[in-house]
Amino acid sequence: MRLSQMLFVTLREDPAEAEIPSHKLLLRAGYIRRIGSGLYAYLPLMWRVLKKVSQIVREEMDATGAQECLLPQLQPADLWRESGRWDTYTQAEGIMFSMTDRQQRELGLGPTHEEVITTIAKDMIRSYRQLPLHLYQIQTKFRDEIRPRFGLMRGREFIMKDGYSFHTNEESLKKTYQDMAQAYSNMLRRSGLQFRAVDADSGAIGGSGSQEFMVLAEAGEDEVLYTEDGQYAANVEKAVSMPADAEPSPFATFEKRETPGTETIDKLCKFLKCSPTQVVKNVLYQAVYDNGITVLVLVSIRGDQDVNQVKLLNELTKLAGNYQAKNVLFLTVPDAEAQRKWAAKSLPLGYMAPDVADDYIAGSKQVNSKFLRLVDRTAVDLTNFVTGSNESGYHVVGANWNKEFPLPATVVGVRTAKKGDRAVHNPEQTLHSARGIEVGHIFQLGTKYSQAMGATYTSEQGEEMPFVMGCYGVGVSRLAQSAVEQSYDKDGIIWPVAIAPYHAIISIPNISDGQQVEVAEKLYAELNQSGIETLLDDRDERAGVKFKDADLIGIPYRIVPGRSLKAGKVEVVERATHKSHEILIDEVNSTLKQWIEAAVS
Ligand code: ATP
Ligand code: MG
Repeated sequence: MRLSQMLFVTLREDPAEAEIPSHKLLLRAGYIRRIGSGLYAYLPLMWRVLKKVSQIVREEMDATGAQECLLPQLQPADLWRESGRWDTYTQAEGIMFSMTDRQQRELGLGPTHEEVITTIAKDMIRSYRQLPLHLYQIQTKFRDEIRPRFGLMRGREFIMKDGYSFHTNEESLKKTYQDMAQAYSNMLRRSGLQFRAVDADSGAIGGSGSQEFMVLAEAGEDEVLYTEDGQYAANVEKAVSMPADAEPSPFATFEKRETPGTETIDKLCKFLKCSPTQVVKNVLYQAVYDNGITVLVLVSIRGDQDVNQVKLLNELTKLAGNYQAKNVLFLTVPDAEAQRKWAAKSLPLGYMAPDVADDYIAGSKQVNSKFLRLVDRTAVDLTNFVTGSNESGYHVVGANWNKEFPLPATVVGVRTAKKGDRAVHNPEQTLHSARGIEVGHIFQLGTKYSQAMGATYTSEQGEEMPFVMGCYGVGVSRLAQSAVEQSYDKDGIIWPVAIAPYHAIISIPNISDGQQVEVAEKLYAELNQSGIETLLDDRDERAGVKFKDADLIGIPYRIVPGRSLKAGKVEVVERATHKSHEILIDEVNSTLKQWIEAAVS
C-alpha cells in the first residue's frame, strides 16, 4: 500500500479523551477513531492487526479440533427467557441492548452466545455418539458497559472469539478445558504478549473451574495475586491466602466502654490501644434478589480484614433459595438514601454489634424483616474480642461468641486476600500483586444452561442427559490493544512482528530523487511479492516527518533508500531498538525474511 493513497492521518498531540498510553497511541497513529461512547471505527491499519490476531486465534482453535461457525447477533428474547437471563441482562445488570421489532417481538444484541449455541445443540445433537463437540466463532459482541473506557479495552461493541464445547461427562470437559488453556497460552505467546494464567471466580455458575489469561500491564483493571515460586496465581476476586495470626486479646472481662468518635477500626484501635485482629467488625450490605426481595446482610469479620464482594455475592447466591429467589441482582453497601427505604430508625453505624436488633428494619413485602447474619471464618475463633454495642459512641470489650453474642449460624469465607499474605500451598511464600488486563477467560460451565434450556442427548445407556458444557472467550480487540499497552516508547507503538499491520515500511527521503524512487519501487514490488507486507511512504513530505510517522505507527522494519545507495545499499532500521543496518539492495528481501521468521516463531 502507498501512503499517498491511504487514509493516513496521524496526530502530533495526545487526544484529550484518552487516558492510557495504548489508547492515546492508537488514536494518534490513526488506527482507530471514536464514533460514540465505547464505539470505535477500526481504520485500515487496525483492521489488519485485528485480522492477524484473529488468524492466530483461528489457527490455535482449529488445531484443537474446534469448528468455526457464525451465529446471529440478533437474538430472540425467548431464548434468554428459557435460560432465565433475559431480565437480569436487559434490566438488572442492563448489559444487553434490547429492542422490539415491527412485529412486536423482543430481541437482544448478543453480548455472549450460550443461549443460541445451547439451542442449536438441543436441536442437532441427539446422541452421545456426536459428542464431544466444540464450536467457536469470531464476531462483534455488544455490551452496554456502565463505564466504557480506554478505547478498545472496554468498548460497547468489540470483537470476541467465543467457543462452546459439549460433553457427556466432566472428564471429557476437563480435557477440552486443558486443551483450551494450552491453546490460549499459544495464542498469547504467538501474539508477542507477556501474560499469566490465573485462577478466576466462576461466579454464581459454580462449575468446577475457570481461568483468566491476564496480560500484565499497569493499566490493567484487574489485580492478580501470585507467589514467586510460580505455584499460585489468582484474580484477587478469587484469591485465597492465610490471614495473619490474631494477637491475644488484652481484655479479660466483658464490659461496655465509652469510645467517642471511633466509628472506624483505626480510630477504635488507637483509642483502646488494641490490635484490629482483636476486633469483630460488622459490615452492612444490601442484596436485592431477582424476585425483588431486599435482604439486609450483616457480615461479622475480623477487624483487620476486608470483605470481598465477589465472594460475598457467591455466598448470597447460594442462599437465594431461602428467599424463594434464584439470583442476586444487586449487592451494595446501603448509603443514607438506600437506608431511608427500609430503616425503621437510624442505625448505630460504626457501632453495630453482631446482634443488632431486627427492629431496625421496617419489613415489608419487598424487604425481608430480619438481618441475614453471616460470620467470616477469621472472626469465629476470636475470644474476648472488641465489637460494637449498638449504641453510638460505645463499644464492648472482652466479648465471646455464644456468651454475649450468638455465633451466626452461617460461617462463610469472604475475606479479601491481599499482597503480603502467606500462601495456602506454602506459608513461606507470600502473595505479590500485579495489574493485569483480562484478555481471555475459560470456563467449565457444567450443566447450567443445558439444564435450564432442556438441552439433552441420549446416553449410551439410553437415558436423556443434559450436556456438560464449557465456554471459552478471547477479546480479540482488547488483546490487540493490550499488545500496544505492553510495547511502546516515546516515539510510538512497537508492534510485535506477528501482529503488526505491515512488516516493513519503505520511507523515501526525497521523492524528487529519481534513484531513491526507483530503488524504493523495486523493493516495494519485490518484498510484497515475496510475502513481506510492505508499505511505501511516497508522500511529498520531509524525511523527518516520514520517519516520525513510521515510528509512531510502529512498523517493525523501516527501509530507507538514502545516502548508502551509492554503495548499492539501503538503511534498515529496527523499530524496537532503533538499530540501523546497511544492507545490500539485493539482500534486503532475504534478510527481512530471516528476521521476520525469527521474530514470529
Ligand atoms: P470484564 O471482567 O473485563 O468485563 P468479562 O468477564 O465480562 O470481562 P467475558 O464475558 O468472559 O468477559 O468475555 C470474554 C473476553 O471478552 C474477556 O476476557 C475480554 O477479553 C473480552 N471483553 C469483555 N468485555 C469487553 C469489552 N467491553 N470490551 C472489549 N473486550 C471485552
Ligand atoms: Mg464484563
